[in-house]
Amino acid sequence: MTPPEMVRALTHAPSERDVHVTNWSGSLSFTAGWRVWPRTEEEVVGLVRRATEHGLGVRPVGSCHSSTPVMATRDVLLSLDNLSGVVDHDAEAGLATVLPGTGIEDLGAQLADAGLAMENLGDVDYQAIAGAIGTGTHGTGESLGNLSSALVGGRLVTAAGEVVPFGHDAGDPPDSDLTRAAQVSLGALGVLTSLTLRVRPAHHLHRRNVMTHIDWVLDHFDELAATYRHVDFYWYPRSDLAQVRVLDEPGRLDGLRVPGRLKRESSGPSYEVIPNHREIEFDEMEYMLPREAGLATFREVRERVKARHRARVAWRVLVRTIAPDRAMLSNAQDRPTMTIALLQNATLDYKAYFEDVEPIFLGHDGRPHWGKKHTRTAEHLSRMYPDWDRFRDIRRRLDPGGVFLNDYLRTLLGEEGRDR
Ligand SMILES: Cc1cc2nc3c(=O)[nH]c(=O)nc-3n(C[C@H](O)[C@H](O)[C@H](O)COP(=O)(O)OP(=O)(O)OC[C@H]3O[C@@H](n4cnc5c(N)ncnc54)[C@H](O)[C@@H]3O)c2cc1C
Repeated sequence: MTPPEMVRALTHAPSERDVHVTNWSGSLSFTAGWRVWPRTEEEVVGLVRRATEHGLGVRPVGSCHSSTPVMATRDVLLSLDNLSGVVDHDAEAGLATVLPGTGIEDLGAQLADAGLAMENLGDVDYQAIAGAIGTGTHGTGESLGNLSSALVGGRLVTAAGEVVPFGHDAGDPPDSDLTRAAQVSLGALGVLTSLTLRVRPAHHLHRRNVMTHIDWVLDHFDELAATYRHVDFYWYPRSDLAQVRVLDEPGRLDGLRVPGRLKRESSGPSYEVIPNHREIEFDEMEYMLPREAGLATFREVRERVKARHRARVAWRVLVRTIAPDRAMLSNAQDRPTMTIALLQNATLDYKAYFEDVEPIFLGHDGRPHWGKKHTRTAEHLSRMYPDWDRFRDIRRRLDPGGVFLNDYLRTLLGEEGRDR
């Protein structure tokens, strides 16, 4: 079959051949045999069926912001950009039906039009919602779960080309096994074509960023995090200063006193006030730690960075918190969590720095962010996730031929099979 015939056999949807793809930071690139933009769920079904028949692999992709090759493929890269928007909502039930390619910025604006909002958001709003959920993207807040914990149902196209509703969409409870697997799936179960999200009423937030000394932040972090809705801080290794960021409902920051220099103060709709704008690319390693071990781990990281890396590390270390959840592969599963992220400018080498600090995270039972740099594979990860085998059983049942696996996911999940 010639390439054009193959494309026609695969799909009627818009597509390109031999597409070179690079992630946001530039540290990851691959060439997909086909990049396809289905416009309907039906086209996703047809495409997956054809790919399976032709023995091709399929990887769904969002905004390609991950820096592990979770979305990489030599075969078919399935972009969901044409399946975008909030298509339904029920304010009373606190639910919204959202298409997978909806950018998080658009999601915020469209939910706001319906008087609704996500409970929390991450550092930026550039991701697609299904992509962000695919790796367990999180923001900060002791009482706030990651974005995946908002997924209570949806529709999944499996390797056989069947549409499988789950959770709320199947009339199942939100803690059904398939929902808990789909909440952080790495795109390894199939293609999410619709997401039912738990949402809350639209709300405004007041945000204050203050630059102070790291010692003040370490002495006061627990108290701040227990008092305010969203609290995090960036530590700057060269100056030993930290930028502490606090957000809560308007009026709730009136009593907040942080000694230091005010860097930013703003108020507005939550979806506008929470995210930052990032113009300079960076690479990142982030580990999720048991909450109670978090600050001790940070202190060790700080000592290591000051002793060995301060001269070469131009960037900062970010500390946040996440409420526990029940998703099978969530790195906040069943434990209140503190996250520590090392950021390194994309023009500088990150490997030696990240690999030198990673053992500190591992020594405190850290679980890596699925979409950021790490060195872990199945042998280690299977011991970190109580539901590891259950997730693999569900994956094998939905995709026995490994259509949705690539080389990286095979190694990560400890699966055998041919390279794709
Ligand atoms: C500047 C920047 C800031 C960031 N900030 C944060 C942050 O604050 N908090 C945090 O936790 N992470 C953060 N991240 C990491 C980022 O949120 C994750 O890597 C996220 O998964 C990227 O979303 P994406 O849309 O680009 O998805 P992609 O990277 O394209 O894909 C991620 C995964 O989702 C899967 N997927 C995509 N669409 C579908 C679908 N329709 N069905 C099934 N699976 C699908 C893919 O196969 C892949 O496994 C940040 C990354 C960058 C570059």
